[in-house]
Amino acid sequence: MVYLDANASEPPRPEAKVAMAAAWEVTGNPSSVHAAGRAARRLLEDAREKIAATFGARGQDVVFTSGGTEADNLALHALAEGRRILIGATEHDAIREAAPGADVLPVDRRGVADLDALRDWLASGPPALVCLMLANNETGTIQPIAEAAALCRDHGARLHVDAVQAAGRIGVNLTALGCHSIALSAHKLGGPAGAGALLLAPELGFVPPLIAGGGQERGRRGGTPPLPAIAGFAAVCGLAGDQTWLAGLRDRVEAVAMRHGAIVCGRDGPRLANTTSLALPCVRADAQVIALDLDGIAVSAGAACSSGKVQTSHVLTAMGLGSLAGQAIRVSLPWNVSEAATDAFEAAYARMAVRMKPALVPTAA
Ligand code: PLP
Repeated sequence: MVYLDANASEPPRPEAKVAMAAAWEVTGNPSSVHAAGRAARRLLEDAREKIAATFGARGQDVVFTSGGTEADNLALHALAEGRRILIGATEHDAIREAAPGADVLPVDRRGVADLDALRDWLASGPPALVCLMLANNETGTIQPIAEAAALCRDHGARLHVDAVQAAGRIGVNLTALGCHSIALSAHKLGGPAGAGALLLAPELGFVPPLIAGGGQERGRRGGTPPLPAIAGFAAVCGLAGDQTWLAGLRDRVEAVAMRHGAIVCGRDGPRLANTTSLALPCVRADAQVIALDLDGIAVSAGAACSSGKVQTSHVLTAMGLGSLAGQAIRVSLPWNVSEAATDAFEAAYARMAVRMKPALVPTAA
């Protein structure tokens, strides 16, 4: 199988497996006062410091969570404090579903947030919480977070940034971005599912927990932390692949797809190197995914819910792409992708497009 669905989950990195196996050998709960507990606590705090250093935060401002979804939910729970809420139109459901009734910040055709609209909205009422993702999971579009953070601070607003897809692919630094919190997820970095973090700006101090319990994480998240998962998470932080090489492979994939009638969604905007959203007009996304799967290629439709049922992409709809929003597949290159893998994708895509769109594509590829 050729796996080109890194934005769903990156393949596990060997560094994570080694660190997790070692952590599994540690007996003890980090909350216990005896020597075994202290050993577990040391492991937990070393992981916390490594993650903090990688992403420009202080160790004490890292709150471990079960993943990106919980980190986003915790941010909304902890930072809103009765504020008005504004979310980007292309946010992940981890934000959208956790902020019902929030106002929505529009994006342009590239998927980039409208900062003039943000300025107007911020000026139009009392202090707010704004949620804007750093990189989009479907298109890879990168948002101007530093500019948005400066605008938010000018207006006394807080900015939460979902950096789940950006981490490990572009620089992510809480201090440099100037935002108030950042959500991370280990399995998007080649670590295990089951660990993530919310990184907080030092000025926030204590934030109320979403999960109440035994006072772990300085009272900000109850529950015994999963040490092996957290050790695996820390082990993959700071491991960045060669993004120029990835961008070259992506460009070749896009060139082949466009020759066969595809439209690359958000192609003109700032984007992650590993992600492309390919819309094939008049061909349903789920039919494309199934055809490619039968040919040994794993990619996603623009948006898939937990049942696996494909829905029209709210991301592409927000970008004004109309019916193409139901006709796009997402190809996301993993950290260990090979040229042979993208060659195989290109051949399979050509076969699929010729079969499914005979009237609009070259008959001989
Ligand atoms: N935010 C973004 C942008 C994502 O792409 C995802 C997962 O696809 C999440 C949040 C949720 O992360 P997790 O799967 O760790 O809960």
